[in-house]
Amino acid sequence: MVKKAIADLKPYTPELTLEDLKQREGLSKLVRLSANENAFGTSPKVAEALSNWGFTGANRYPDSNMTTLRDAIASRLNVSADALVFGNGLDEILALLSRTLVEPGDEVIVAEPTFSEYALNAVVEGAKMVDVSVNAAGVTDLSSFTEAITPKTRMIWICNPNNPTGTFVSKEDIAAFMKTVPATVTVIVDEAYIDFTTAEADPSAITLMKDFANLVVLRTFSKAYGLANFRVGYAIVSPQLGNQLERVRLPYNLSTFAEVAATAAYQDQDFVSKTVTAVAAERDKWEQFLNDQGLTFYSSQANFIFFKVGKADALAANLLKNGYLLRTGLGDDWLRVTIGRPEDNQAVQTLIARFLK
Ligand SMILES: *Cc1c(COP(=O)(O)O)cnc(C)c1O
Repeated sequence: MVKKAIADLKPYTPELTLEDLKQREGLSKLVRLSANENAFGTSPKVAEALSNWGFTGANRYPDSNMTTLRDAIASRLNVSADALVFGNGLDEILALLSRTLVEPGDEVIVAEPTFSEYALNAVVEGAKMVDVSVNAAGVTDLSSFTEAITPKTRMIWICNPNNPTGTFVSKEDIAAFMKTVPATVTVIVDEAYIDFTTAEADPSAITLMKDFANLVVLRTFSKAYGLANFRVGYAIVSPQLGNQLERVRLPYNLSTFAEVAATAAYQDQDFVSKTVTAVAAERDKWEQFLNDQGLTFYSSQANFIFFKVGKADALAANLLKNGYLLRTGLGDDWLRVTIGRPEDNQAVQTLIARFLK
């Protein structure tokens, strides 16, 4: 007998491979703008580092401690090395946090809409989800989060910038919110897209961790670092929580391949800032375009934009026939588009304008 919570779950629908989709649609070219990947590729330093590594020790287990990557990140973020916990993608960290912290009957607060995997993992552990609608501007509503806290609340998720709305809450707002949260409740700020945030010079909640031991910050190499295929994500936690999470984490959950790639990508901050600059410029053009078309959208600080359009499914089907895949199914009449390369953004905008005429 499977757990009741799991029998009732709907599985996460992963992306089809581009090859499968191309074949199904009979397309020669297909650009995926549905998964918030880095449209500008991966740092060339990654391929270089991997060929230098040269498969020595492929028969040996990897360094379970991820020492090289750990030291690189700890020093750049100015946190202690034992404040970091690594996962096979941030996805694994999301599961690890729920597995470690949530007991059946606990309440877990999330924004609606937000990244679906927070709820997936919490529900597997028997939690009751408390959904708090984003405000009219699509922004995570932290004062309503405070009102939703009860003695049963165990965990609170803040996706910042929020997927799928792309909106951002300031560090000051998070600090004010933290003051309303009991110390027994863990607040997790998922900063998967924080590198793309240009509204503030230092938008991360990491510096708040010295004041709030119950604050956790998450990062991934899948988005701005262009390494989605390598599956590297991590949590920045208090050393006490780090110690608990390490008891549950699977040993050897990342390959040396992944560590070598992520370390090289991390050292090439020039690639990251070029990506961020290009995305921000293209994001401005997208917002201009959506304004010109009279379409409703949320102001984005990420590498995607969530916009409202009548006949969203028909438009998505039309774009797919023309070789562009957008994300559907995240809200009635809403589509999410990943900011692509300039020529692809231009092509998609032309197709949308033609569809709406
Ligand atoms: C993409 C994404 C993740 C997962 O990242 P991986 O490291 O690829 O597992 C986590 N959180 C949010 C909000 C995301 O959009």
